[in-house]
Amino acid sequence: MTTQTQVLPDTRPDGTDTTGDDTPKMFHYVRKDKITESAVTGTLVVALCGEVFPVTRSPKPGSPVCPECKRIFNNLPPGGD
Ligand SMILES: [Zn+2]
Repeated sequence: MTTQTQVLPDTRPDGTDTTGDDTPKMFHYVRKDKITESAVTGTLVVALCGEVFPVTRSPKPGSPVCPECKRIFNNLPPGGD
C-alpha cells in the first residue's frame, strides 16, 4: 500500500527554453502509474505540484528536487491515496 511516486525531470518541448541548455533543471514527483500511462500513450504527466510536462528524458543524477513537490510528497499519508 505504498504510494507509487517517482521523481522525474522537468522537461519542456523544444523551443520553449531560451537558455540553450536542454538539461532538466529540476525533478518533480509524479505518480508512477501516470509515468507508465505517459510512456504508453505519449500524454503529458502532472507532477504533485501541478507542473505538466512530457516524459521524454531520463532523470539526471544530482539535479535538485522541486521543493513544492517534496513538500507535498512529505505530507502524503502513508499508504493513502
Ligand atoms: Zn514539482
